[in-house]
Amino acid sequence: MPATNFAEYTDTTARLAILKAKAAYTCNLHPDVLILAGDPNAERRAFEIAGNTLTYNDRTFLAEKLILVLKRELETAGTECWLCKQNLLI
Ligand SMILES: [Zn+2]
Repeated sequence: MPATNFAEYTDTTARLAILKAKAAYTCNLHPDVLILAGDPNAERRAFEIAGNTLTYNDRTFLAEKLILVLKRELETAGTECWLCKQNLLI
């Protein structure tokens, strides 16, 4: 599978798992921005959901990639929407 499809797949799967687990939610005004719910149980659940969502053959390889993406998404998600915050400052 081409690298770009692959990256898109892991990004989408990670994001869906995060939202499904309610580990984070999206800003009402900016649906691309994730805002952390701050719930460690929900974050653990997101990893479980992501693992169960994998449908491709190479599950082990994908699971490792997916976990990295999920961690990155959770790390970059703030406790508030950075775009809204930026708009307030202008
Ligand atoms: Zn916003």
